[in-house]
Amino acid sequence: MRAQAQSLIRLLRWLVRHKRSSSTEQVLLMTGMVLTRTTSLVAASICSSLVALEIWLRTQAIWPLIWLGLEAVFLVLRCVLIVNARRAHRHRREGPVLVYIASGCAWAAMIGIAAFGCALSPDPIVVLMAALMVVGIIGGITARNSPIPRTAILQLLLCSLPYMLGIALNFQRWEIILCILVPASILGMIALTGRLHEQVLNLIVAERENAFLANHDSLTGLPNRAGFNDHLSRMLERNGRAEPWFAMLYLDLDGFKGVNDTLGHAAGDMVLRAVSERLTQQVGQDAFAARLSGDEFAVLLPASTISTAEALAAKIIEAVSQPIEFGAAWPIRVGVSVGIVSVPEHGHDPTILLSRADAALYSAKASGKGLVCLFQPGLDRRDLQSELKEAIGNPDQLILQYQPIISSQTGEVVSREALIRWRHPRMGMLPPSEFIPVAEQSRLIVPLGEWALHRACRDAATWTDGATVAVNVSPRQLGGRGITEAIADALAQSGLPAARLEIELGETSPLARTPEVFDDLNAIRQMGVRIALDDFPTGYSSLAALDWFPFDRIKIEGGVLRSVPHQRQTESIVRNLMSLAQELGIRVTAEGIETEQHLAIAHRLGIDELQGYLIGRPQAEPMSVQKAKRASAK
Ligand code: C2E
Ligand code: MG
Ligand code: MG
Repeated sequence: MRAQAQSLIRLLRWLVRHKRSSSTEQVLLMTGMVLTRTTSLVAASICSSLVALEIWLRTQAIWPLIWLGLEAVFLVLRCVLIVNARRAHRHRREGPVLVYIASGCAWAAMIGIAAFGCALSPDPIVVLMAALMVVGIIGGITARNSPIPRTAILQLLLCSLPYMLGIALNFQRWEIILCILVPASILGMIALTGRLHEQVLNLIVAERENAFLANHDSLTGLPNRAGFNDHLSRMLERNGRAEPWFAMLYLDLDGFKGVNDTLGHAAGDMVLRAVSERLTQQVGQDAFAARLSGDEFAVLLPASTISTAEALAAKIIEAVSQPIEFGAAWPIRVGVSVGIVSVPEHGHDPTILLSRADAALYSAKASGKGLVCLFQPGLDRRDLQSELKEAIGNPDQLILQYQPIISSQTGEVVSREALIRWRHPRMGMLPPSEFIPVAEQSRLIVPLGEWALHRACRDAATWTDGATVAVNVSPRQLGGRGITEAIADALAQSGLPAARLEIELGETSPLARTPEVFDDLNAIRQMGVRIALDDFPTGYSSLAALDWFPFDRIKIEGGVLRSVPHQRQTESIVRNLMSLAQELGIRVTAEGIETEQHLAIAHRLGIDELQGYLIGRPQAEPMSVQKAKRASAK
């Protein structure tokens, strides 16, 4: 009771002080709850029409018939308004709110006048039926229209006060009960309207708070990673249209960990709040600043050139490095390093942009603290390098796929080439061309190559068709880097016979024809492992290499056969190569057989083994003999 009285007082105050302060979102939500529903409206119309009909039957007067007619007109009018309101809401517009309110009030006034007529009737049944109708309708108005409380209260009064007036004018003793019941209902419903309105408002506020928390960091109030990603996606969408370019600044605090470790988390939180404030001040209204995680922040700077982005980064570094007063004797100092990428110059994909900004930041940190670094192609290699190092220790990230190599005579799968892929956590599946060069430059090629050897031997040992496995070995793994031990280990651990392993020396980096490399190749051959010269005759894979070491196989690079139909001399070069190979006892495989025409050329030139998409693509599960045969027979 007390709560109801309080909400009634609050509502009256609100009615007096009302000014339109609601946001469009709120108005849309509130009016949407009222304007788009038909059921209660139709139900109220049917009930009051039935009352009108009954009264006409009892009184045979003309006015209940007019009432009935008006009821139908109002119903049609309000349904048309609702259809319009629904359409407007779909387009996020308010719709015909004022007309709707006016028609609602007019309808309530009509009910009030009709109820007044009933209250003057000498027939107690008519008086009672009108009371029933008025109480029912004010309940319905409360339930339906509380999101627009002023209208609801006006409607309540319009339909009930004339009835009370009628009772007063034609008062009979038994009607005393109505004099209590109807006003009590009116007061109760007004209080309820206020209460319901408040609850709807609370719901809206809670919803907005939830939406805010989902996209904002509770410590600093800045947008969080989700908010940042949203904003970045929107900017990238616009980037294709109106907004020509923008910059992303990726920031990481220097010395923050020290603060947290020595002064505790409370001091750490305070530093983060202070840094956020300084960042917000520096970036101003046009840019967007966010806290991505821990001590990482990011800024999106619309319509900026690289020099404006660098100028902003310098201002941020200056502001952040100012001492932070900490209530203790000495202030805290932290710094910040910044990596910058420019859109679309450095990409148009959020993941790539973030990874490049991160690479630029990494470079800024590596060159000393408190510096700005703009992304440059090649920087992300350093990043890839450290990620590749982690991937080598992570069994889920590196994958070997197998591509069948068939005998051109029998169509049997005689071998399968192991081809490495990297399932990168951010960039998805990477082909070897994206990371083998990085591995070769950093010497990570040695552990990477060893991993591939072990994995390939283990897999091949399970194949039931006895096919050989061909593993690519970079020339950088040769020359005293433990390749012979690695091969011996892989064979011993997997139990694969040495005769079922072949290594392919590719052209990815120079094959140094030094005595150490020669000794390694010789030792591998001594174990019973075969050695192929890959990608012949490109780059370092040439006739001179054949002269230097007695390879077991030559793999002719895919482009060679493909150029035979267009360049007549290619065919005669391959023919000469075939007779040379025959003389030296070297087998020849043709790569890149993609069409029937390539297959026919390979057969015509007498090439021993065939590999290519026509026969089978590289895949995780090795292709069976039958499948490969079917493919090659196509
Ligand atoms: P590769 O040894 O010459 O391998 C053959 C490449 O040609 C593979 O590309 C294969 O997918 C592709 N290929 C096969 N059939 C066809 C075809 O019909 N048409 C065309 N257009 N291409 C075909 P992938 O897998 O991207 O490998 C590229 C290179 O990466 C390999 O060339 C090899 O040099 C290197 N590589 C792959 N795995 C390893 C590894 O484990 N270690 C080392 N060091 N290098 C590797
Ligand atoms: Mg190869
Ligand atoms: Mg090759």
